[in-house]
Amino acid sequence: MLSNVKFGNSLLRLFRFNSVRQLNSIQAANVDYFKSVLGENRVKQTDLEKYNRDWLGLHEGKSSLTLVPSTTEDVSKILSYCNDHRLQLVVQGGNTSLVAGSVPQDDEIIISMEAMNKIIEFNDTTGVLTCQPGVILETAESFVNEKGYMMPYDLGAKGSCHVGGNIATNAGGIRYVRYGSLHGSVLGLEAVKADGTVLNMMSTLRKDNTGYDLKQLFIGSEGTLGVITKASILCPVKPIDKVVALLGVPSYEASVKLLKIIRSRFVAYLSAYELMDQTTMDSVHINLHLEPPFSAPFYVLFEISIFPGSSEEVIRDNLTNFLDTMISDEGIVNDAVLSTDLTSYNKLWAMREQIMIAIKAEGEALSYDVSLEHKDYYRIVDIMREHLANKKDLIRVSGHGHLADNNLHLAISAKSFTSDEIKSIETLLHEWVGERNGSVSAEHGLGMKKRHLIYYSKQREVVDLMKQLKQLFDPNNILNPKKLLPDN
Ligand SMILES: Cc1cc2nc3c(=O)[nH]c(=O)nc-3n(C[C@H](O)[C@H](O)[C@H](O)COP(=O)(O)OP(=O)(O)OC[C@H]3O[C@@H](n4cnc5c(N)ncnc54)[C@H](O)[C@@H]3O)c2cc1C
Repeated sequence: MLSNVKFGNSLLRLFRFNSVRQLNSIQAANVDYFKSVLGENRVKQTDLEKYNRDWLGLHEGKSSLTLVPSTTEDVSKILSYCNDHRLQLVVQGGNTSLVAGSVPQDDEIIISMEAMNKIIEFNDTTGVLTCQPGVILETAESFVNEKGYMMPYDLGAKGSCHVGGNIATNAGGIRYVRYGSLHGSVLGLEAVKADGTVLNMMSTLRKDNTGYDLKQLFIGSEGTLGVITKASILCPVKPIDKVVALLGVPSYEASVKLLKIIRSRFVAYLSAYELMDQTTMDSVHINLHLEPPFSAPFYVLFEISIFPGSSEEVIRDNLTNFLDTMISDEGIVNDAVLSTDLTSYNKLWAMREQIMIAIKAEGEALSYDVSLEHKDYYRIVDIMREHLANKKDLIRVSGHGHLADNNLHLAISAKSFTSDEIKSIETLLHEWVGERNGSVSAEHGLGMKKRHLIYYSKQREVVDLMKQLKQLFDPNNILNPKKLLPDN
């Protein structure tokens, strides 16, 4: 147990270690050791651009070494050696982080989880999937779909992101409204601590109240506390059909009003409720040539999942009648299109899922991920438009997001931004969100980009406790330095 005095000392060390760069640089003898553990082919020293550059193309690390372990034992040996030799590391999944969490901030060694991509077991009675962390989300989805189940979350990056990366970031996405957080769906984890100790917190059971639930600490820890090497996830039963509706609504307020009505009418079936403003849809149309079926100030994309035991025909009829009423009697909806088959379902979803790709395609793009109460949710988009009204090379300020989860993605694109402009945008946004008790990172995490913002959403005493946990799990600060936690 830590005494008060020791506790104080460790805190002091904590504030210092974050400002230390690579503790030791890589030597030929280190590389030889890694080759002896992993074999020549899994120790990469050339063609490292894809590992060094982040998805948004805004940050490029300088790592000269990527290690590709295939077993928990490999990971344990790498970490134990790096800890002894004070070599810093960054853990990388599918490298789709939008906060520069998965790339080196400088020249840390990269551990890519891409070869730890095995599905270990699936229980088709309970729906529990056990797999290695490097399984790509889309692969996991196809696998469980064949067994009559689905993954409890879904996101636009599913073709590249890993299950381990999703857990390490506590990814949200478009099914959160129905299936909730990974804190509820992840039943068990295996993780390797910085000193190489393997923590077996695996379970495939839903109930387990034996002491502190330590696996929860790793969910959303962004690779700073340990490397996730195995996981079991509770998968819900796959619906027999899904219907997606794209609606044109006259105002932001109408989209919130509609959410309340849809919740009360279709609560048993609702599996997504997304908002896009017209500016977002313009970007998707112009940059990706995906044309919306009608023009509207705001678009709502909501999905109904139909489960075994329900009549598909009855639900579809209910939905059609409901939308007719919303259009003709209530005036909450202007236009509506329903998917009729898989092709139209995928086409409608593509407009939502490819927003980030559209925004990235136009000039320089800034993208922010915040949580706000519905009364404030869209106000910040208008405030930002006003703030940037005189910027000559501005392309657009747009808002979209997971409205049912109060999660807004604000995107700003221009030919270029000066660092002063970015600073003024971010100060305005984060102060505004902080003052309203919102979150400055709803689902993307803090990574390298947002770690200094943590105090807008978390009390200093809480952050100090996080730093103490980091010190406990990784006393030499070898794992993902300069990520998640601020220097001071
Ligand atoms: C087009 C697009 C759409 C997106 N949509 C969403 C969305 O709707 N919701 C959402 O939440 N996010 C979204 N994201 C962000 C991103 O996809 C998620 O954060 C995702 O969970 C990251 O997974 P990854 O495998 O790519 O992890 P990476 O980007 O490789 O890593 C992310 C973090 O996790 C750590 N990490 C990775 N693997 C491990 C491991 N095995 N053990 C310990 N730490 C690890 C890394 O060190 C890093 O800190 C989107 C991104 C893109 C590009």
